[in-house]
Amino acid sequence: MLKQAVVLVWAIGRAVHGRPRLAPWTESREELHPLLKEFKRDGESKRPNPAHPIAALYQAGLWDLQGFDGVVPTAHGHPEDWFASRHPTGGLPTACHDLVRTSVTARLEVLDALQEKFELSPEEYEALLSAAGIDDETGPRPAVDDDSYARLCRLAESREQRGLRRPKLRNEPVRLDPARRVVLERSAGNCEFCGTPAPDVTDRGIPVLEVDHIEGLAEGGRDHPEQMIALCPNCHAVKTRGTRRHTVAEQLREIATRRHRQKLESNGDR
Ligand SMILES: [Zn+2]
Repeated sequence: MLKQAVVLVWAIGRAVHGRPRLAPWTESREELHPLLKEFKRDGESKRPNPAHPIAALYQAGLWDLQGFDGVVPTAHGHPEDWFASRHPTGGLPTACHDLVRTSVTARLEVLDALQEKFELSPEEYEALLSAAGIDDETGPRPAVDDDSYARLCRLAESREQRGLRRPKLRNEPVRLDPARRVVLERSAGNCEFCGTPAPDVTDRGIPVLEVDHIEGLAEGGRDHPEQMIALCPNCHAVKTRGTRRHTVAEQLREIATRRHRQKLESNGDR
């Protein structure tokens, strides 16, 4: 089963990077082989063939195959010879490909659903996304769909419940972290404490602000937008190292709660 998740995440990575939806069989096989070797569970074949998970995904309606005549064998019907002789092109169905390519929110929802369905551990999940080249710096900028704030908050909550997010060292990236993304979107590019615009943007146009937990996860804080804040470098320094940090933390808590609620109300919490 893990093999199907590997194939899907690989295809999402292709979509994110703007590569063609359909890949020739030889290309798919060459790119998937090392991934399937790396991501396998005990008892699975040491020489995985991408034909098996792709045949299973095709049967489940999650994979397009083109450029051949006749019937695709099932995953248990020795599909490797069939793929080797037919050389079908294949990839995600069009609607799915376009959705994960253009909407960051949808992409996160799909990836989180895969994490849950295939029971990927947090380590497996992050390593797989990394191997597929999916991170915060690829693909379109954060989505601005009307309801994405509420949707991303729900994703953050579901991750909390599943324990997907674990406490991390500061600045260690968490791939496609919905809580961090949603706070950045809420900031609209300005420090949420002093209101100053971010001093710069990243190469992809994302404001350079520090998104921080008001109360550290190690101290019992939650990984939730309501308890997180986007700060300019100055305010972030005061919050973490200044003598006023305790008073500031109280104020930040109020600001984050108020802005979170306003955002949910203005978006209509669906
Ligand atoms: Zn500031």
